[in-house]
Amino acid sequence: MEELKALTNQAVEKQPEIIKRFNQMIDSQHLSHAYLLTGAGGIGKKDVAQWVAMRLFCIDLQNQMPCGKCEECTRIMSGQHPDVVEIAPDGQSIKVEQVRFLKAEFSKSGVEGSRKVFIIEQANKMTTSAANSLLKFIEEPSGEVTAFLLAENRSLMLPTIVSRTEIIELKPLPQDRLVAELVQQEVAKTDAQILSRLTNDTGEIKLLVENNWIAEAHKALEKWFISATAGDITAFVDVQTRIMGLAKDRFYQEKILDLMMLYAMDLLELKFEQNTITYETNRRQLQQLADQTSVRQLLEVTDLILPLKHNLSRNLNFQGIVEKATLKMCNIFKMRGR
Ligand SMILES: [Zn+2]
Repeated sequence: MEELKALTNQAVEKQPEIIKRFNQMIDSQHLSHAYLLTGAGGIGKKDVAQWVAMRLFCIDLQNQMPCGKCEECTRIMSGQHPDVVEIAPDGQSIKVEQVRFLKAEFSKSGVEGSRKVFIIEQANKMTTSAANSLLKFIEEPSGEVTAFLLAENRSLMLPTIVSRTEIIELKPLPQDRLVAELVQQEVAKTDAQILSRLTNDTGEIKLLVENNWIAEAHKALEKWFISATAGDITAFVDVQTRIMGLAKDRFYQEKILDLMMLYAMDLLELKFEQNTITYETNRRQLQQLADQTSVRQLLEVTDLILPLKHNLSRNLNFQGIVEKATLKMCNIFKMRGR
């Protein structure tokens, strides 16, 4: 029960503005037939959709908010409400049979009133025939139907679907909230801060936290960066001995390049006396480095690191990319103060 209640609050906490918007739409009876909710994983798309369903069905509204406790609310939260149907990919895709099931559920008239809500998770995974089947359904809804299609990005969706929905983009979680959540999950605060700069996708965060990857990567990159900025060629050796082991696949390789970029950004931030940096534990060292290095040189570093991800996407070899960049970095910093 406690857990269920937390779910109601999550939508409001994660997406307060969106909730406010939906509340107004419901009050003024301007709810559309179909919404496309977009945003990264963990951002609260499903929470919002379920919240709207609860707001519509709750029998004990509290200040225009669903109570989260009544029978209607609890059935919606546990996915067992007959008029709130959810579908998600069955394996790799959402198949036409699943959309047919949805339609059949909704044509059972008079189950409990005429209002219906359906929620399609990862709607971008609908097969073309499933999407076409859904289109007809959205266009000719019977009764008061509200559809929520959830997807990370609208560009993943078929244009024919997008054009028939009202698109609502969910904003990423505020950074401090994300950090607090990660710390609660026993991620060290330093690492939580770094993670919050890397991504706000909870799926990605999960991968980065697994097997202590982020802590190990932070340590390895820290050593690499300190060596490289000292013009010390052992940074080159670090690539092979420490960094390569963390660069398991393209995903992790990209994150390593992002971590490198965050160091370069920190130096610029400190050069211009800004306060917010990513690598807080290295502040003194980074400050000293920023003081000793010209703006031109710092910009050379960002210009050097920035295109690396693009190079990687062109299928260039990760180790080669990083080794080359390391040598160039050593050269830039050898010239420091001159
Ligand atoms: Zn309720």
